[in-house]
Amino acid sequence: MQQIKTQIRDIPDFPAPGIVFKDLTPVIRDANSLRRITRKLAEPFQQSKITAVAGMEARGFIFGALVAQELGVGFVPLRKPGKLPSDTHSVAYELEYGKTMLEMHTDAVTVKDRVLLVDDVLATGGTAAASYELVGKSNAEIAGCAFVIELDFLNGRKQLPPQNVHSLIHF
Ligand code: AMP
Repeated sequence: MQQIKTQIRDIPDFPAPGIVFKDLTPVIRDANSLRRITRKLAEPFQQSKITAVAGMEARGFIFGALVAQELGVGFVPLRKPGKLPSDTHSVAYELEYGKTMLEMHTDAVTVKDRVLLVDDVLATGGTAAASYELVGKSNAEIAGCAFVIELDFLNGRKQLPPQNVHSLIHF
């Protein structure tokens, strides 16, 4: 992971002044890094009887779909408003840089599902907490959350139940 950490590019003042954006595009461009990250994200959940992976738009789609493949389950997209074509649940929340909303198809998961949430970065935890609430609206169980990067100084982890929050790289 130390070598992958060096591939992450800091972009100052993006998308807003004062934000240091953690750019993972050089990491996903590298086949070995992408494979290693996918395996490491899935590893703690191999025995967790996960039935679906849910990923947050947009970078959670990349890692989430790969982790779903690794765990042998399907993928559920948690999307920005107005993008999903069928009936949706929605949750509004605050971002590190602004306000937004996430939506999920009402029939994407059921009470029988054990869901793993996957995203690229855990920052303030607003997105992850909203995703938790969103998946909960379909009464599915959330078995854990996996992030490539956790920004420790923002304490996002405090927004989530302490069990099974797993991050590969800490800043
Ligand atoms: P938050 O809701 O504050 O935990 O923010 C997490 C979401 O915003 C994730 O979906 C990230 O893709 C994105 N994000 C927030 N802060 C950063 C950052 N410093 N660098 C890259 N992405 C970020």
